[in-house]
Amino acid sequence: MTATPTRHDWTRDEVLALFDLPFNDLLYRAHTVHQENHDSNAVQVSTLLSIKTGGCPEDCAYCPQAARYDTGVQAQKLMEIDDVLARAKAAKAAGASRFCMGAAWRGPKDRDIPKVAAIVSAVKGLGLETCATLGLLGDGHAQALKDAGLDYYNHNIDTAPEFYGEIIHTREYQDRLETLGQVRDAGLKTCCGGIVGMGETREQRAGLLQALANLPEHPQSVPINQLVPVPGTPLANTDKLDPFEFVRAIAVARILMPRSIVRLSAGRQQMDDAVQALCFFAGAGSIFAGDKLLTTGNPDVAHDHALFRRLDLHPLDVVETSGTVHADILDSASADEAACCGNSCGCGAAA
Ligand code: SF4
Repeated sequence: MTATPTRHDWTRDEVLALFDLPFNDLLYRAHTVHQENHDSNAVQVSTLLSIKTGGCPEDCAYCPQAARYDTGVQAQKLMEIDDVLARAKAAKAAGASRFCMGAAWRGPKDRDIPKVAAIVSAVKGLGLETCATLGLLGDGHAQALKDAGLDYYNHNIDTAPEFYGEIIHTREYQDRLETLGQVRDAGLKTCCGGIVGMGETREQRAGLLQALANLPEHPQSVPINQLVPVPGTPLANTDKLDPFEFVRAIAVARILMPRSIVRLSAGRQQMDDAVQALCFFAGAGSIFAGDKLLTTGNPDVAHDHALFRRLDLHPLDVVETSGTVHADILDSASADEAACCGNSCGCGAAA
């Protein structure tokens, strides 16, 4: 494989020019980058458990876990450690090497950190890699989680800086960047992406990917979510994004962040197999498996395996390659292991 240079100085015009390429030219270029940096027939398969669901005080317009929206999601307390361990053991038995845990909080309180740290340590003790998505982190939280054995932290920037205020009013874009900085400073690996199809323009989709690519380090994992419009949320009636535009977003993400793993995340249930195949060609190298992402649907595991067979794909089973590529590999996943609100936030909502 040839290492493609990584850049952190992408301009909006450059990113837009990629979006504007003829579709076939864009996919050819993206797939070339993918082949240069990854096994293009391997797909990392991850699962996520919601360890604290619903009742969130934030107002993310896409999210059924926000307490202020009437979406039917029942708020639950932080799971007991034994219950999480039982789920982690089941995931490991099913082939998981990493266990992702999400909590629908604005962020953990200081008093929550020891409890989550104990959960992380216990899961780590099973021989699993650990990932958490808990929202905004306070002073010392990232280091405490790292010390407990956390490997990865998920926190998404959601959308372009200039569109962010249309979607979320209870936390600032800068808040997210600061949490990402704390994650990096603590030596945790970063999972960070966003959502498309929330009514943003193409230029704003370009702005999301430009912001991700120009972070001080490219996230090891870049989840690209397609909005799942959930009844009861402000975005319930948002027009569906053209599937080819979603594929373009995957392709542009692949080109901008050549060594990151681009994850096909929320919204996959709304995509037919042909669109998913195009996403894999365009550079998606990871999916979430299971029948729900916290509160919205996801294709079932058997269907995913059948699709893999039809496309001659195989689950990625290499844990570390270049130091920038991570692997939370799951050959098969129990359907109820997957979680996250079907959208995104870096909380328990949809990484
Ligand atoms: S996306 Fe996360 S932070 Fe936003 S409302 Fe949902 S659970 Fe809360």
